Amino acid sequence: MLTGHFRKGRGMASKPVAFEIKELSKTYGSGRAAVHALRGVSLTVRRGEFLVLLGPSGSGKSTLLNIIGGLDSASSGSVYYEDQDLTHLADPALTRYRRNHVGFVFQFYNLMPGLTALENVELVVEIAPDPMPAEQALGLVGMSHRLDHFPAQLSGGEQQRVAIARALAKQPQVLLCDEPTGALDRDTGIGVLEALATVNREVGTTVLIVTHNAGVAAMADRVIRFVDGQVTKIDHNERKADAADIQW
Ligand code: ADP
Repeated sequence: MLTGHFRKGRGMASKPVAFEIKELSKTYGSGRAAVHALRGVSLTVRRGEFLVLLGPSGSGKSTLLNIIGGLDSASSGSVYYEDQDLTHLADPALTRYRRNHVGFVFQFYNLMPGLTALENVELVVEIAPDPMPAEQALGLVGMSHRLDHFPAQLSGGEQQRVAIARALAKQPQVLLCDEPTGALDRDTGIGVLEALATVNREVGTTVLIVTHNAGVAAMADRVIRFVDGQVTKIDHNERKADAADIQW
């Protein structure tokens, strides 16, 4: 299989490195209760890449996402974000990294029920150093027509798109998504994946998606396959599928 053939870039291999992950391990607990969630994962992620992390439940995908998002610590190995070793940052620096560089999207949307879609996104815009206007972020995810709706008046897929707009509004370099379509049916899930692909394509945000839905792999630049805490295979897609065309 040829490497480096990407629809948007013959060129992804020459893009600057966003994350350099080396021999990363994570063990929860100790002794007989020890769980080896990651066992020596190494991976280079380039700026602007769209990666899908695929594998069975319990294979370590979320653990990796949480460590590179600065939400969890490693047991050994290193994760560089540009020139910063996240595994050796003190808490205040790690908090700054998370706040300034990373947007998170989780399976459940955690929107404030008493605020409209627009207000939910504005909340982030108020505290970010270099935000995008909330209306623009909602426009990118196809939610311009629902600015004044409250979460309870939106479908699950629409709520997730508001959550993506909220993550996006602070203009993060990286969007980390853990099972973003896990609670959605096919049609609404595809709307959410389309929104993520749009953000990646139009803003250039590096996107990592953890999923157990194998169909999503067709949308990625690269598919990172996990088994039992290890990366067992990395596939390059020469052509990325549109969200509307994937198998669910
Ligand atoms: P995946 O995202 O692929 O489903 P996870 O990264 O969530 O897998 O989990 C990998 C392994 O680590 C699993 O066996 C899980 O039970 C364990 N694990 C994850 N988080 C913790 C934790 N906070 N404490 C103990 N074990 C954990």
